[in-house]
Amino acid sequence: MREGLHPEGGELLYAEVLLPLPLPGTYTYAVPPNLASEVSFGKRVEVPFGKRKLYAGLVVALSHQRSGDSRLKPVLSVIDERPVIHPVQWRFWQWMADYYMCTPGEVMNAALPAHLKLSSETRVVLSDALTDLPDALTEKEYLIAEALSIQSALRIQDVKGILQQQTVYPLIHRMMQKGLVRLEEELKESYKPRQLSCVRLCEPYASNRDALTEAFNLVARSEHQTNLLLAFLDLERKRPEPRQSELLKRAGAPHSSLKALQKKGILEVYTRTVSRIEDYEGMLETASPLSAQQKEALRAIEEAYAPPASAGGAAESAEKGTAPHLPKGKPKKVSSKPVLLHGITGSGKTRIYIELIKRAVEAGQQVLYLLPEIALTTQIVQRLQKVFGRQVLVYHSRLNNNQRVELWQAVYEGRGIVLGARSALFLPFCKLGLVIVDEEHETSYRQQDPAPRYQGRDSAVFLAHLQGARILLGSATPALESYYNARKGKYALVEMKERYGESQLPEVRVIPMRGRQNKGPAHLSKELIEAIQATIEAGDQVILFQNRRGYAPALRCETCGWTQSCVQCDVSLTYHKYRQEMQCHYCGYHTKLAKTCPDCGSTDLFLQGFGTEKIEDELKIYFPELRVQRMDYDTVRGKGSYARILEEFDEGQIEVLVGTQMVTKGLDFEHVGLVGIVSADQLLSFPDFRAAERAFQLMVQVAGRAGRKEKRGKVLIQAANTAHPVLQEVLEHNFEGFYKRELAERRDFFYPPFSRLLRITLRHRKAQRVNEAARIFEARLRPVFGQHLAGPAVPHIGRVRGQYLIQMLIKMEPRPAEIANYKRWLRKLGDFVRKQPGLSGLQIIYEVDPS
Ligand code: ADP
Ligand code: ZN
Ligand code: ZN
Repeated sequence: MREGLHPEGGELLYAEVLLPLPLPGTYTYAVPPNLASEVSFGKRVEVPFGKRKLYAGLVVALSHQRSGDSRLKPVLSVIDERPVIHPVQWRFWQWMADYYMCTPGEVMNAALPAHLKLSSETRVVLSDALTDLPDALTEKEYLIAEALSIQSALRIQDVKGILQQQTVYPLIHRMMQKGLVRLEEELKESYKPRQLSCVRLCEPYASNRDALTEAFNLVARSEHQTNLLLAFLDLERKRPEPRQSELLKRAGAPHSSLKALQKKGILEVYTRTVSRIEDYEGMLETASPLSAQQKEALRAIEEAYAPPASAGGAAESAEKGTAPHLPKGKPKKVSSKPVLLHGITGSGKTRIYIELIKRAVEAGQQVLYLLPEIALTTQIVQRLQKVFGRQVLVYHSRLNNNQRVELWQAVYEGRGIVLGARSALFLPFCKLGLVIVDEEHETSYRQQDPAPRYQGRDSAVFLAHLQGARILLGSATPALESYYNARKGKYALVEMKERYGESQLPEVRVIPMRGRQNKGPAHLSKELIEAIQATIEAGDQVILFQNRRGYAPALRCETCGWTQSCVQCDVSLTYHKYRQEMQCHYCGYHTKLAKTCPDCGSTDLFLQGFGTEKIEDELKIYFPELRVQRMDYDTVRGKGSYARILEEFDEGQIEVLVGTQMVTKGLDFEHVGLVGIVSADQLLSFPDFRAAERAFQLMVQVAGRAGRKEKRGKVLIQAANTAHPVLQEVLEHNFEGFYKRELAERRDFFYPPFSRLLRITLRHRKAQRVNEAARIFEARLRPVFGQHLAGPAVPHIGRVRGQYLIQMLIKMEPRPAEIANYKRWLRKLGDFVRKQPGLSGLQIIYEVDPS
């Protein structure tokens, strides 16, 4: 397989095509001579696959051969005029498939926007052989046949509409058997550029403004036409060639008046293709000067990026390093070390990012700025747009398909400072100079389902390496792994230990909750309530953090202990008071609150535990007048509600914000006097080796929302287990102490960063089958990994959506080559297990470096 060679006389051309399916490897297709000049790397081609399916596959390699295999299927057509990816993207995909144990097709599926990812659409057409409609048609068959005599083809969706019913396949099938219709596959491409009707002056007026007097004379008798012309000139001053709709609205004139102006040769309406993504219209501002600390940090970062004195230096440390990659693939140039910027909350990390972005842009490079999805809608986008204007391209989940395609094309052409969540990694960068991973510790950088199950931060490190770009990881609470890498010299460490300006770190206190409450209403202590009162009276705002949504996470029977559970998951249902129902947080199942216990008939049922709804309720008991807003998954689901809540809070219309970890994400408010953490115990008791790290990060982050600008803020943490060392560390803002203690524990139990983890999850509809599969795995894994294999065991939640789960966790020495071998072997083992009788329906999920 070679890339991009020219066909020579007598040779046949073959294309290696990647299909958007979970299949290993690529498929070879013959390129017919008439398409040979069009087919090239990175273009999508239409190919047959399977019985009657057509797919848009991607050409990833071409080869010439003198004698070919005549059984190979042909490429049917070439979809793109120019490639949709550069070769470097293909290398990235291959690395990801390899490292995260999935197929390149799955990576492509995640990478390409829907509009670039055609699969065939089935259409019903009349059978070619059919000359006349037979007499014996049922009424429904007649309806379809009639529709087909008007429209040459119907989509399945159309058929459903005509018949007003959901199941139509049996009917279509019958009609096929009768020889009435046949199915046809068609590839649909649905991207269309956005075109607007715009208005401009005709000649001679366009180039000779003095002539306009004459134009006004021509329209003097019509008030509407005069208004139109005036409105045009007014609009045009702000933006050349205004939109027709805007003009008509401004002038308050009917369309016919515009038509009249066109006839008189004064104005001209034409269609213009406009960008859906580069639409910032605000004012540009220059960024404020850097503080001394920021200057120093920037200098240290630049120094770390400077090309290493001896070329061997960087390569050497990469070998010994402990990051989860061993970069394969050739980087464009010697890549510089990743930098970890550890700056406390409020130190002004964003200001540093802006400076680095500026320099990259000046050097003509592209920038990728990654953020957790939820943080994208807010302040940060505006902050960057104020400095960089339309160069800022925002890639988030709410973009529509057309916008995605436009953004893709802009990036392909080498434009853009791209702000995006983890999936922005897949955009077709070609001149990437800088990658920033903000809040790099965030767990949302991890993609859980479906494949590729990748860690976005780690993948960004590899992407930067591949593109020869600089990379900066930023956080007030770095991931243990990142900090460890920095301490070991694999990353450069730059720290900012002071807040920007006059702002001080908040005062943190722990409120002991032992023996206070269990079932009672009092989840808010007297101290916390008094502090809320005082804060509000001082004219400041409050954030209450409770990491569980809903009203109560369980309904139990007092008599026999029964719990109301999900029908298809082994998990208790959460009571949502606002919707008056019990909900499963794993599959979305919901039902009514049980009135009596189905096991013992008792009516003595009680709600156990508490979530954000209950806290909101309790607040209202103490402060009926208070303006409280909840911010959790339930209240931000609607489009724009997240941004709206934040805006209202920023403007002071909300006095208390009660929320889940959404309230901890890098928000910057001026008047938060108090942050309350309702239950530290819930965070600390999570059954996971990362629980302490998560709890520390969440508490420090949410505490960081308190007291910016002049006033010192206050943080109150309610906890039953007050002796937990993490609380002490949060109290003292002691990241170093936390890091040292936690690292010692990880070492004792051989957890990352000292080991690498690989989790295997088995899923099957039948408990017996999943157990069988687990036994086969264990018999093969135990001899190899011994005590470093944990499980097979039923996880915390053993059944989800009717599927039984079993997990195994493997701990491996951090030796990349050895790990790569294990991965290959495990994949083969998986294929073998699935081939055993009765296990074809088994799902095997590999998670590399799970979090
Ligand atoms: P971090 O992300 O490190 O928590 P931010 O970047 O949000 O901190 O900065 C904290 C606050 O300080 C923000 O309100 C920001 O506008 C302000 N700030 C930071 N650096 C500067 C600067 N150089 N000039 C003016 N304001 C700054
Ligand atoms: Zn009972
Ligand atoms: Zn469920």
